[in-house]
Amino acid sequence: MTGTIAAAKSFHWDMAHRLGDGYPSQCRHLHGHRYSAEVTVRSDRLDEYGMVMDFGDISRICDGWIQEHLDHACLVSSRDTSLLEFLRAEKNRFFLVDFNTTVEGIAAWLAQVLQAEIDRQPHLAEREVRIVRIRLHETPRSFAEWSR
Ligand SMILES: [Zn+2]
Repeated sequence: MTGTIAAAKSFHWDMAHRLGDGYPSQCRHLHGHRYSAEVTVRSDRLDEYGMVMDFGDISRICDGWIQEHLDHACLVSSRDTSLLEFLRAEKNRFFLVDFNTTVEGIAAWLAQVLQAEIDRQPHLAEREVRIVRIRLHETPRSFAEWSR
């Protein structure tokens, strides 16, 4: 049989952010979203069960990382020093990144971070399981998509 096969799973989490770098519209105000990410993985070699990546592994590795680091956190750019100062003073949960926290930026960043987590798993690294797409919804009708 020809063609390629991919597997995908969706995750959801709550996270706050605001857009900086002089962005003029609504999203410059601190607010939150129920983010939803659909992560698609591919490998040229299926495992012994005929899977690209066990859905349980996708959950444990990708959703596990997201829940541990991002759920109910504020994603804050290192350039947003006033927000960072507030979050530190209030001992609020935050995750520091070096980009303006647009949905496009977050999708591309998650692809990197989650791929690194997958690569830490010998049984997946050995078959070169690759994240090939991340579709990240900021709202039900607005999303950005990163693809390899
Ligand atoms: Zn937003």
